[in-house]
Amino acid sequence: MTVINPIEEAEALADKLSGLDLAGRLSFVAGLGGRVVFTTSLGIEDQVITAEIGTHRLPIDVVTLQTGRLFPETLALIDETESQYDIHITRYEPEQADIDAYAAKYGINGFYESVEARHACCGVRKLKPLARALAGATIWITGLRRGQSANRAETPFAEYDAERHLLKVNPLADWDIEKIKAFVADNGVPVNPMHARGYPSIGCEPCTRAIKPGEPERAGRWWWEQDEKRECGLHVAEEAAAIAVQQ
Ligand code: SF4
Repeated sequence: MTVINPIEEAEALADKLSGLDLAGRLSFVAGLGGRVVFTTSLGIEDQVITAEIGTHRLPIDVVTLQTGRLFPETLALIDETESQYDIHITRYEPEQADIDAYAAKYGINGFYESVEARHACCGVRKLKPLARALAGATIWITGLRRGQSANRAETPFAEYDAERHLLKVNPLADWDIEKIKAFVADNGVPVNPMHARGYPSIGCEPCTRAIKPGEPERAGRWWWEQDEKRECGLHVAEEAAAIAVQQ
């Protein structure tokens, strides 16, 4: 029996995807079988992927993490996107018991007080729902791009997520923001109106601010933290994610 090394499998998949366009990458991955899940934050990159999934009717589950702290514009965009592409976007929400326990320990907005408290909130509102969203998945598609931040500069087309035991595919890894905007304009893709108001990266309302000219795209996320590698834990498999999940 041939034992497949998942890391080598991911590298081979990345090599294959590098030679395809976006629709080709998504179609190829959808054809691999198993449960293929795309997690969308409704950001402009994710809207490009959703547009391709919807337009080509690809058998990919489109899901989002409804944290309970999203901007009204983001919530409206979920509905608009479903309508435009005739698709269903499954909302995964945090457990009320977890929210209550967090509020009792840290306060409902305790994430401003420490990195630990922030990771704990992301753990409750994002990581635990993400685990449910990815249950049974074999492939996880994301909208990560190398140009989004220094922390994402090495994003591959495919990688093995050892923590979640699945292949993670990043079909927009080599796209820059200008190519994203051109695709949106050419194809009438609905996007969050906040992008035009200085919010290139949009997460939860209390943890996102507009950026200033010249700032990195993700500078408005958890802006009060100094760590250049700040993330919510969805796309890091190291200590921070582990801390967040355990809270
Ligand atoms: S982004 Fe902010 S509000 Fe949203 S889950 Fe993380 S800490 Fe909580």
